[in-house]
Amino acid sequence: MQFFLDVVLPIPLERHFTYKITEEDAALIQLGMRIAVPFGKSKIYTALALKVHQNAPTAYEAKEIDQLLDDNPVVGKVQLQHWQWIAEYYMCTLGEVVRSGMPSALLLESETLVLPQNLEGFDDASLSDSEFLILEALRHQSSLRIREIADIIDRKHVLPIVNKLVKRQAVVLQETLSEQYSPKLVRYVKLGDNLEKEEQLEAVLNQLERAPKQHKALLALFHLKSQSKGHIKLKDLEKSSGVSKAVLKALLDKEILIDYFIRRDRVQFEEQQVTADEISLNDIQYTALDTINNGFNAKKVCLLHGVTSSGKTEVYIKLIDKVLKLGKQVLYLLPEIALTSQLIGRLNTYFGQRIAVYHSKYSLNERVEVWNNVNEKNAKAQLVIGARSALFLPFSQLGLIIVDEEHEASFKQFDPAPRYHARDAAIVLANLHGANCLLGSATPSIESYANTTNGKYVKAEIPRRYGDVLMPEMELVDIKDATRKKRMKGHFSERLIEEINQSLEAKEQVILFQNRRGFAPIVECTTCGHVAQCPNCDVSLTYHQHRKQLRCHYCGHHTQLLNTCQACGGSHLDTKGFGTEQVEEELTQLFPQVRTARMDLDTTRGKYAYEKIISAFEEHHIDILVGTQMVTKGLDFRNVGLVGVMNADSLLNFPDYRAHERSFQLITQVAGRSGRTAKRGKVLIQTYNPYHQILHQITNYDYEKMFEEQVYEREQFHYPPQIRIIRITLKSRDYNTLNEAADWFAGSLRNVLKAQVLGPEYPAVARVRNEYLKNILIKFSKQASMSQMKNGIKRIEQSFNAISQYRKVRLIYNVDHI
Ligand code: ADP
Ligand code: ZN
Repeated sequence: MQFFLDVVLPIPLERHFTYKITEEDAALIQLGMRIAVPFGKSKIYTALALKVHQNAPTAYEAKEIDQLLDDNPVVGKVQLQHWQWIAEYYMCTLGEVVRSGMPSALLLESETLVLPQNLEGFDDASLSDSEFLILEALRHQSSLRIREIADIIDRKHVLPIVNKLVKRQAVVLQETLSEQYSPKLVRYVKLGDNLEKEEQLEAVLNQLERAPKQHKALLALFHLKSQSKGHIKLKDLEKSSGVSKAVLKALLDKEILIDYFIRRDRVQFEEQQVTADEISLNDIQYTALDTINNGFNAKKVCLLHGVTSSGKTEVYIKLIDKVLKLGKQVLYLLPEIALTSQLIGRLNTYFGQRIAVYHSKYSLNERVEVWNNVNEKNAKAQLVIGARSALFLPFSQLGLIIVDEEHEASFKQFDPAPRYHARDAAIVLANLHGANCLLGSATPSIESYANTTNGKYVKAEIPRRYGDVLMPEMELVDIKDATRKKRMKGHFSERLIEEINQSLEAKEQVILFQNRRGFAPIVECTTCGHVAQCPNCDVSLTYHQHRKQLRCHYCGHHTQLLNTCQACGGSHLDTKGFGTEQVEEELTQLFPQVRTARMDLDTTRGKYAYEKIISAFEEHHIDILVGTQMVTKGLDFRNVGLVGVMNADSLLNFPDYRAHERSFQLITQVAGRSGRTAKRGKVLIQTYNPYHQILHQITNYDYEKMFEEQVYEREQFHYPPQIRIIRITLKSRDYNTLNEAADWFAGSLRNVLKAQVLGPEYPAVARVRNEYLKNILIKFSKQASMSQMKNGIKRIEQSFNAISQYRKVRLIYNVDHI
């Protein structure tokens, strides 16, 4: 009897693939195991097992699998259901979800091996130096990896050379899989087996009288043993004895010492210090907790709307504690890893080593370890803290998901597919597990808040700061007027300078927020008006003074800033607009004695870069921190007296239907970093538009008013949450083809869909990385069937793909969030 296996490959294919398996394998294979399979001409991929059956595929001859890679599933059943939902809802393939959801170290990819074929009697004289080196190496080794060949001949691009050797039949290529994850092993030492008895030990010690260093090492070992009961690391012995590696090796060689290895996770956490019972909530927190628990009992998603510094985290800790006590897993999602280090510290106090952290700055190996710990339901991964990708971990006993700062835009993944929203996908995941889901924010998203007003979610509120600290005092500073009266020093108003001075005198710290990085977004020639543009994108280049470079923030292109205009040769170049770099520079001129630092994408590239800046600020090695939206996130600083918003208008004028909502959120959040302890904080907002209604809602802390007004506006202009949207982006290197294709697609949508179809239109940046972009927006009522709508679109896509001249046009779907 013949058996077959359906698998999902980590590539964007619409269908699953079927392979031949033996009866033996059929009995072993379970859903969610990794299987190495051949695909295409000679590639081997890691696929996930879906289903064993006996129906041969009709369209093609099934190939045999290469090998099983696991004894147990690495992906669970509910998890796969969730991935399937993501693929369907966000209009991508399951393969793309697999590719993005699993740590790449688990998705082994084929690696090319080069094997010798007939080296005997090969005419070495006809070979180039590189070719000779490769063949020479293959006379001593049975195979070489491409990477190793690159090392041998000291060049990066070796494939052309290897291909020549293939043509001359000197070598053949073979695809294999290589395991990228390797467990970390720690080397320990103990006394040799035959030295347990005292007499033997004495004899050895006597013997070693003549080798004083070895003697010393042995005594150091006894000392370490007397201090702790655990295992002794070779490293620790080396350190405490002060002897060299050679001395220890001598002892190991004589078997007086024996070494052994223990597998250890790369990331380790401190032990728990106190229990969550030690937190006593105040009345408002307690009421909120009660409301949430009642909501959970009624199987509802809850939204905790608590002002900044109201103690939402303490409420979370109580909820987490309860779920962990039931032996279930908790997922704590954060929008940005910038936040994790502070939060981990706080949660670590209560939950100790039950914490695991998962995000993109972790190494391959660290991520695999967390993956395995969650999969094995290990105690040390009971509470997972992570950015949006943590949603893909193999949970099997999930009891609670917390989505902190749920309003944050970075929960949405824009590239690559799946283009999902982690908050929305978290609610679905909780539902599949029968787990509870809590959203938390000081400035909830309009969508989530709307769901509490229509009864879908339960709302809990903490309207005051913990310890009755007053909300910071907000002041709008009219910089239009100040500019007219020439009362600005660079981008600083007199009021701002005054307040900074006061804070510094009071030994308080200051945060300055400007939502642009670099020095200036535009460099313009004052003679001819030419603006430096990216050659690959339709966008001006940002000047970065630190490196004297012009950089494109879309594609990364950069050039040196030249002293003359590229167009007319004029030598008067001027900058327009300003970024964090310029703010910092002006600061050092205005306050030369003050210690400043900057937190933006440019200063936080390294793994611990965030942590360094944040802890330097916490420890008051920095007086003034300048930053982009990174400084607005839920950081809990104790000594910030003043927050300055350098320019509110750039936020308000952003071309996006969410611009006002986002401005409210960003400014309220950054304001919330000030005055978190006893003394009331101060916030200055510089603007050309001091009468803007959003700014008044912000300074009055009037979330409700903002919500009502935004809901009204969106109703008028047909935007979510009242309706649904899907955006289709078409991309092509060919301008004319793109325009034709976009018109064709929009026309077909208009013929087929019962929906409002807008566009095609160019986005604000209409060319990125030499690809032209055009958007089509589909709006439809919440009553319409989402799946019918998507099926209609997919059918049009099929016809579209059949048109040969459009073959090179790519389609990108964004559902709900654009
Ligand atoms: P939020 O997350 O709402 O901005 P936090 O949870 O950071 O607020 O709380 C602000 C500060 O108040 C923190 O330093 C926190 O430790 C303290 N705090 C809040 N609730 C309590 C409580 N019940 N007991 C002791 N300290 C608390
Ligand atoms: Zn560019």
